[in-house]
Amino acid sequence: MQEDISIHEAAKYPWSVMARSLLKEYNVLLAEVDNNPRITKRAKLRLIDALETKVPRNTMGLNDDPYVELTSFFVAKALVDAIASMYLRRRWATAEAKSTEEFLIKETDSKLAQIAIREFNWQMKTVKSQIAGRSFTHSIHFTNYLTATEGLRDLKWKLVNKRLSTGFVLLRKTETTRVIRAAVEQLLVRDIKKVDAEFPPNIQQVYDEIDAKVRKRVDRHRQEIEGEIIPEAFPPCMQAILSDLKEGKPLSHIARFAITAFLLNVGMEVDSIIELFMKAPDFREDLARYQIEHIAGKRGTTVYTPPSCAYMLSVRLCVDPDQVGVRRHPLNYYRYRRKRVSKP
Ligand code: SF4
Repeated sequence: MQEDISIHEAAKYPWSVMARSLLKEYNVLLAEVDNNPRITKRAKLRLIDALETKVPRNTMGLNDDPYVELTSFFVAKALVDAIASMYLRRRWATAEAKSTEEFLIKETDSKLAQIAIREFNWQMKTVKSQIAGRSFTHSIHFTNYLTATEGLRDLKWKLVNKRLSTGFVLLRKTETTRVIRAAVEQLLVRDIKKVDAEFPPNIQQVYDEIDAKVRKRVDRHRQEIEGEIIPEAFPPCMQAILSDLKEGKPLSHIARFAITAFLLNVGMEVDSIIELFMKAPDFREDLARYQIEHIAGKRGTTVYTPPSCAYMLSVRLCVDPDQVGVRRHPLNYYRYRRKRVSKP
């Protein structure tokens, strides 16, 4: 049976399954929304905030219209899908997830568990437990915990540093909200819909503005890493994957993705990358070409970037864990080293 959800609740958590179903009830069409300047303005603000500050201005609770909040999220999402830039998508996902956390922290313990169970199908319970002066409010099954925290780089999130009770990880309230925030961010990064970049006029105007901003930023980043490829400036994680590749060692799927996206982003041609993969034990040129062209955005609309350092760490591909918080992204490492290596 479907649970009722108020428009206020949906506006606070617009990414939720319930919010999406509510919006269907409202039967919102982009063409109708286009004539409401409050919605298009708020959608634009959500994306500008994501680009500039990574935390969207949270106007809920200040007599704002929850309908505007809810629909503006979906307009912003449609724009993110259409612009098809992983740079924008990641920043938007981070910003919206942070905004979610601001609401979560004000919820009761039982409400938090209810949201987690309803939206992510987690095994989560409320607990009242005091251990060594710390109050725990929730417990989550360790498998759900591991999936949700795969991108959290701080050592405190490692399972070995957590209190476990019969397969459940004990969490304090602030930790529960942080774990839900991480899950929301993953959800928004992965929920990619194919959207035609044809919008009604006012939304199209926002699309053009945001698209131009994103392209300018991505081009600026690209200029810093493109040009002559300098392998000495590659980060140690990519050097390690490349060395395995050249020795014909089998690579995991994520290692293949990471090195391919990295090399494409530093300007290597598809054919040169295929040559590198020729030594792989299961090499098939047609498959390799298809996959590389897909990552390059030649077979879809999304141009992929390699995973962040935090993600690389979580999948054991980072070879310098102490630097994760400093570098944050393998392309940052390359950008930084490239400038220094190429100085005469
Ligand atoms: S810190 Fe980042 S760039 Fe450095 S090895 Fe680890 S994943 Fe690679």
